[in-house]
Amino acid sequence: MLTPQVTFLLIIFTVIVAAVAQFRVSSAFNRFSRVRTRRGMTGAEVAALLLERAGIHDVEIARVETYLGDHYDPTRKRLCLSPGVFDSASVAAAGIAAHECGHAIQHAHAYAPLKARMAVVPVTMVASQLLPFIVIGGFIFGYVRPLLDLGIAVYAVLTVFQLITLPVEFDASRRARLVLVQNGIVTREEDSGVAKVLNAAALTYVAAFLSALFHLLHLLALRGRE
Ligand SMILES: [Zn+2]
Repeated sequence: MLTPQVTFLLIIFTVIVAAVAQFRVSSAFNRFSRVRTRRGMTGAEVAALLLERAGIHDVEIARVETYLGDHYDPTRKRLCLSPGVFDSASVAAAGIAAHECGHAIQHAHAYAPLKARMAVVPVTMVASQLLPFIVIGGFIFGYVRPLLDLGIAVYAVLTVFQLITLPVEFDASRRARLVLVQNGIVTREEDSGVAKVLNAAALTYVAAFLSALFHLLHLLALRGRE
């Protein structure tokens, strides 16, 4: 039933979903980075307060220059915030800063999906580095057997990684919204803006998972046809 043609169409579908998701992230961020919270705390201040309230004292809050490059680095215990979040007292900044704190809290509580995600990072990095060779090799030689098998292995790893990423990201956003309201950093009304920004970001992770899954199914369909 899942022929190479069908799986190819599914891949095209995920390209569209990914583009829509990316557009929604940018537009939600642009919209809510212009809305100042009533409390007026910057992203950096939000992060500092939330880490303090969570009893986390060994995580460094750093300012990184990458646009929307906000992330929590568990290996270095660094919470990296981009200028548009670090220095901004907007609804979007509060949401993103709190989301990254969510990851730091997951780490401090040894949240199982985060631990699993960290465990598969090294093999995922190898898989990502092999990816261009598979795409270019497939383009030049067609999908010959060894290349197909390697591609299936690579996409299997990427699919598992993206799948484990989903609970980690959804949980971080859930925690973020909860602590923002509990600590009076955003009002209930502002929380709906936070939700729009974080839900848009969540859709990009769903798109990444579907993309990896459908690439995997496509290669499996190609091999099944042989
Ligand atoms: Zn995240």
